[in-house]
Amino acid sequence: MKRQNKDGRPIHSDKVWKRMLWIGANLRKIGYEESGMKPNLFYKNINDNDEKGVIFADLRGTDIIPIWADASPITYYRDVSFKRYIKEVIILKRNECSPRTTFYQDSEPEGWAIGVGIPDGFCKGCGKDIIHEVDWDILEDGIYNKKISKVGIDWIIEVFFCKDCKNQESLIKNFLKEENKKRR
Ligand SMILES: [Zn+2]
Repeated sequence: MKRQNKDGRPIHSDKVWKRMLWIGANLRKIGYEESGMKPNLFYKNINDNDEKGVIFADLRGTDIIPIWADASPITYYRDVSFKRYIKEVIILKRNECSPRTTFYQDSEPEGWAIGVGIPDGFCKGCGKDIIHEVDWDILEDGIYNKKISKVGIDWIIEVFFCKDCKNQESLIKNFLKEENKKRR
């Protein structure tokens, strides 16, 4: 890693630099490599059965927003589905890589998606790890295609609950009550 912003400006803050090194180390633990040509740009080759592409975790900052403004990697992807990307974002979160995403910025400022945030892949009812069982396309649909009913918000239920808990109406009602409180 190199102690500089994307445009070559040096990082003066020890705190920012230490955080970058720490995140870099966390990224390596889950299979990311640093680009040889572009210091502070990390990537991971995805080679699942049906997905072949790359996911990036970019710690370089930009010309406009330097890395010291927010020392968290911006994530983006090439040739993998949004569904696979969301799953990766959750993995990055779980491994303390504090990924930043750009997709929520596309949704309306007061929209539901803003309040919901990125799910953590654990069922809100029983805590079961559902990262491999949720169809994350549903999240994209909810955000982009506005398949959001302000009464039902079904897609949120889909991404936050396991199969068994989805059948328990009381759990879901409580969850929605909490979510509504947060938005007020
Ligand atoms: Zn559950």
